[in-house]
Amino acid sequence: MSDPALDVLRDTFGYERFRGPQAEIVAHVVAGGDALVLMPTGGGKSLCYQVPALVRAGCGIVVSPLIALMHDQVDALLQLGVRAAYLNSSLAPEAARAVERELLDGRLDLLYVAPERLVTERFLGLLERITPALFAIDEAHCVSQWGHDFRREYQQLSVLHERFPAVPRLALTATADALTREDIRAQLGLGDARVFLSSFDRPNIRYRIVPKHNARQQLLRFLEAEHRGDAGIVYCLSRRAVDDTAAWLAAQGWNALPYHAGLAAELRRAHQDRFIREEGVVMVATVAFGMGIDKPNVRFVAHLDLPRSLEGYYQETGRAGRDGLPANAWLSYGLADAIAMRRLLAEAPEDGLPRDPARERIDRHKLDALLAYCETADCRRRVLLGYFGERDTAPCGNCDTCLAPVERWDGTRAAQMALSTVYRTGQRYGVGHLIDVLLGRETDKVREQGHAALSVWNIGGELDEGGWRSVFRQLIAAGLLAVDLEGYGGLRLTEAARPLLKGEHTLWLRRDPAPPRSSGRTPRR
Ligand code: ADP
Ligand code: ZN
Repeated sequence: MSDPALDVLRDTFGYERFRGPQAEIVAHVVAGGDALVLMPTGGGKSLCYQVPALVRAGCGIVVSPLIALMHDQVDALLQLGVRAAYLNSSLAPEAARAVERELLDGRLDLLYVAPERLVTERFLGLLERITPALFAIDEAHCVSQWGHDFRREYQQLSVLHERFPAVPRLALTATADALTREDIRAQLGLGDARVFLSSFDRPNIRYRIVPKHNARQQLLRFLEAEHRGDAGIVYCLSRRAVDDTAAWLAAQGWNALPYHAGLAAELRRAHQDRFIREEGVVMVATVAFGMGIDKPNVRFVAHLDLPRSLEGYYQETGRAGRDGLPANAWLSYGLADAIAMRRLLAEAPEDGLPRDPARERIDRHKLDALLAYCETADCRRRVLLGYFGERDTAPCGNCDTCLAPVERWDGTRAAQMALSTVYRTGQRYGVGHLIDVLLGRETDKVREQGHAALSVWNIGGELDEGGWRSVFRQLIAAGLLAVDLEGYGGLRLTEAARPLLKGEHTLWLRRDPAPPRSSGRTPRR
């Protein structure tokens, strides 16, 4: 017996068989079921709605947030002989009207629509005059404020269910943390949808985190040692850092281009085009770059600063190695990053709204997870997949902690000294001064504050500056110390520090590899 879905896969797309869960998803949707598809980037989400759209009667409506992506997908479909089109703000009014006419005449198999256009009364009215084959909501995490790419228009997509209850809907995303997943279900009214959760493992990506000393030099050494002539992405937090780093890499002879939202649209597009078409371009970018970029041979993704969350990290690193060949995810992380992230958490929300306790709890949970990932002595992949709900995976053998197991030491006593110093100095000083006190350095500030008279003065001789910075970093990452908003990174104890101070707890710390000799002493904050 012939299976129409398989026929479409072979005859139209030229593939022999479905991959992974595709067959099940396609069968479910062809039969009229709703689905929530969680699949990593490169897993093959597109076919999950393209094939059912061709099998079922009528036109499949695809919601996508990215104009460039729509364009590429429609081009590819037209080449395969699929009657596809898109509607978004890039079309002139006459062209848009022509597409609407095709839709009404039943001459389209797939129509890609920007969310803000889909939810207009005019477009919903058009849809009521035809038979949509299905609704596919791509990048569905955009509906969730907990996700990393919230788009307000997405929240209105619940209207699809209200207006077209009989049309099957698929929400697709490469974001799989449980919170975002539940939010997608709730926001889109997909409570009864079947969930298809693929493994999020990207076995060809090697995860590595280096202790930050001089991030740029470290990046350069990494590139020179492993990625001459390769295409890759370097993520920075700020636009300024993007510009500076791109210029600096270019001066070092690398084919590096900047990308961030502050550049003119034409320049951004030109850089993106070069990244995709030329060989060996290094894109230095903010997170504004990357979503929907389908370049298979990105050999590395480097982070000079911490990403905003583990989901963000997974998405960003996931742009490497889509061709399945070995690729590197490299990140430099240090004390200043931990402090900056903890401070960010303490800040009022950007939108000026009052703080929302639920939101705060979630943000804290996410930050804890991110910092724990950076500090782990366990297999990175295990921690990462565990965060996405995949438990009990074996150590991968392809991450830094697997390849060079981290030495751990009993840091209980050192942590008690550090915490006592925070306490005795009044819980308002930054790491630099605290280390001065621990190491008995007679600085101006020590003299002014009379800190040489404290019981903690000069008790820290067993570690050097770098050792103490590592201890403080790990205490901040573990949430035993909080960073104050007032002043400059003043530290105070949290509730969680109490058992350790009372000696009820043993604390194991990572032993960081010693910094390379050439980079000299790290500047103090
Ligand atoms: P995603 O949207 O999940 O990132 P895509 O739908 O873009 O992934 O698919 C990734 C790549 O895998 C594409 O090049 C696609 O053609 C290919 N692909 C998907 N499904 C199959 C299949 N069943 N057989 C062969 N190649 C496939
Ligand atoms: Zn591992």
